[in-house]
Amino acid sequence: MTFTEPQASPLALLVLGRESDPSSERGVECPGELPPASDPQLVARARTARSALGDRAFVLGHHYQRDEVIQFADVTGDSFKLARDAAGRPEAEFIVFCGVHFMAESADILTGGHQQVVLPDLAAGCSMADMAEIGQVLDCWDALEDAGVAGTTVPITYMNSSAAIKGFTGAHGGAVCTSSNAESALRWAFEQGERVLFLPDQHLGRNTAVLSLGLPLSECVLYDPRKPSGGLTSRQLRDARIILWRGHCSVHGRFSAQNVADVRERMPGVTVLVHPECQHEVVTSADLVGSTEFIIRAVETAPAGSSWAVGTELNLVRRLARLHPDKQISFLDKTVCYCSTMNRIDLPHLVRSLESLAAGQVVNRITVDLTVAANARLALDRMLALP
Ligand code: SF4
Repeated sequence: MTFTEPQASPLALLVLGRESDPSSERGVECPGELPPASDPQLVARARTARSALGDRAFVLGHHYQRDEVIQFADVTGDSFKLARDAAGRPEAEFIVFCGVHFMAESADILTGGHQQVVLPDLAAGCSMADMAEIGQVLDCWDALEDAGVAGTTVPITYMNSSAAIKGFTGAHGGAVCTSSNAESALRWAFEQGERVLFLPDQHLGRNTAVLSLGLPLSECVLYDPRKPSGGLTSRQLRDARIILWRGHCSVHGRFSAQNVADVRERMPGVTVLVHPECQHEVVTSADLVGSTEFIIRAVETAPAGSSWAVGTELNLVRRLARLHPDKQISFLDKTVCYCSTMNRIDLPHLVRSLESLAAGQVVNRITVDLTVAANARLALDRMLALP
């Protein structure tokens, strides 16, 4: 069965790498000379450099990476699996992280001091992670203190956040979570305190609280970091069971309930499978919801001839369609929906990283301040200890 390519849209890829903002993960230019993308020897060059590095390097590839990059990954996975994989390879001198900035930071936190983490393109950030800055989170905590509820609130931060926010979370008794373990993290947090501050993805927090834990929507409030006290009264903060940060994924946030209705009309009998970073109405109108690893397993184990509409990043959906030609796999939206920052890492950037390392030069190293890293490690270790 054939995969129908979605149509290009003006928002398919956002223009990045301009007007660099040092406080943001986005738009930071990546310095240095790159091999031209037209070089026909790029694949051969990557192979040569990779084999010269041998076991000294460990290449991690997130599922949303391009195929031209994934072919060189020693392991692939979502952010949770890759964090564990990075921590489990202490003998590798270099961790080449083909993913985005917050993932490379987590790898630096979880690996030893003798290991160096490299991000092939420094401009590979995450728009969701940028929606929560540490200064805003400190202001939010002040608002919770003013409302008299900071002592009974447990912060849970999604993996997709800066090291500074993971550090804040660890220092305030909280944990990191991913889309694979958000339910366990929330259950754990409600054993530690009365309410949860969940950041930065409002959709993952709401979908997990309501659909997995059974909390009513009325007990979830939305904290807008651009408004004084998040736009909430002290009473609203006190009454809430879960305070959701106003952040979202620019990729998954684009899917709509109308996309689900349209695909059901186009493909009668289709199973709609979406990621929990999608909006609540998308998740409630889909058939199945789960993390990237869940999505991959669901498609892998589906019977031949079944048809699927998948609401997640396009590189992954296209790869699933290629790997499972016996199933009809369709993209949930009719227009292209890439993660523009994940796509920053391409073969020229990977070649440059591998060749530089093979020549003894570490480019684009990602390091986290030691105090921040120690606190963030607390939050990450609490996550890794979840059942
Ligand atoms: S898919 Fe969304 S959450 Fe993941 S890196 Fe891209 S913008 Fe961030």
